[in-house]
Amino acid sequence: NRRIVLAARPQGVPTPQHFHLDEAAVPEPDDGQVLLRTLYLSLDPYMRQLMNEIGPTYAPSVAIGAAMPGGAVSRVAKSRNPRFQAGDVVLGNAGWQDYALSNGDDLVALGDLAQPSLALGGLGMPAFTAYVGLGDIGRPQPGETVVVAAATGAVGAVVGQIAKLKGARVVGIAGGAAKCRYAVDELGFDACTDRHDPAFAERLAAACPDGIDVYFENVGGAVFDAVLPLLSIGARVPVCGVIAHYNDDATSTGPNRLPLLTTMMVQKRIRMQGFVILDHYADRYDDFRREMGGWVASGRVKLREDVVDGLENAPAAFAGLLEGRNFGKLVVRVAD
Ligand code: NDP
Repeated sequence: NRRIVLAARPQGVPTPQHFHLDEAAVPEPDDGQVLLRTLYLSLDPYMRQLMNEIGPTYAPSVAIGAAMPGGAVSRVAKSRNPRFQAGDVVLGNAGWQDYALSNGDDLVALGDLAQPSLALGGLGMPAFTAYVGLGDIGRPQPGETVVVAAATGAVGAVVGQIAKLKGARVVGIAGGAAKCRYAVDELGFDACTDRHDPAFAERLAAACPDGIDVYFENVGGAVFDAVLPLLSIGARVPVCGVIAHYNDDATSTGPNRLPLLTTMMVQKRIRMQGFVILDHYADRYDDFRREMGGWVASGRVKLREDVVDGLENAPAAFAGLLEGRNFGKLVVRVAD
């Protein structure tokens, strides 16, 4: 059983040296357990926070020497649990390893889903995040301007496409010309600006002549600096993530922008609300499955995956996610 464990805690961007691939015997399931063979591993930005000494509020940090955790699509290899049979394909939390044990409580049977990896992206957690954050917090109205960064990523691409379905004008922000072209030509966004463009702030302002009514925050950093002056009176800002800060050293203070932010919040009656998607499964997941399933089946929402082959390539792919090298939902194909 190959596993990728945390070898050292990174300061800044994680590199392959912060991980170690070890091998051990494939475990045997006890009574009530199943043995899972990982097919697809999900790589997600939150995993960077789990590598710190102190984890985020919603999940424990990873111990040095422990396998990196993560959502995965797996095939049941052996079952000693009456709810599952060998061969079943399930969504679970196998982590960065070839095989994992589960008592079945965290598993969702995927049946004969044609493209099971979508359970990690466009039909799973990231798309659900987009659905709840935009629908319940952003609440775009027809004709309003919605801006979303990391616009071709797992969350952002779905945010923008749902906003279009709600009748909004959608402006994406993405890293590079190819991603921006894709957002407009394939995803149907009205415009997309390249965050690497030296004139990024001016171009974003030009793309939002009526200001910004909803800013779906995936990124923070320089992108938020460009967005803040463009927010309209009554703007809503679902704060989903701030990936630009995940590699920050916790002790760096930087210039204090808080007075500007709070002053703008008052003057423009801005509503910013953070959320963690884990809180919403009980009351919103069924609605998401029904609506999103319909949009994907009818082609009204398009999904793009960035598939990397081989468990051993997960560390480099993960570092790339934190630097914008992925193009679409990042998954690792571990086995067929
Ligand atoms: P993506 O598929 O969008 O991949 C991450 C993207 O972030 C990169 O491709 C890059 O896009 C962008 N990015 C990376 N580094 C930077 C940087 N320094 N500055 C600006 N942009 C950067 O990831 P996800 O869709 O999975 O996640 C998007 C956000 O949503 C993250 O912040 C994540 O933590 C958050 N999230 C929050 C959840 C919640 O419950 N609150 C649940 C799921 C996700 P580009 O190069 O195109 O700009």
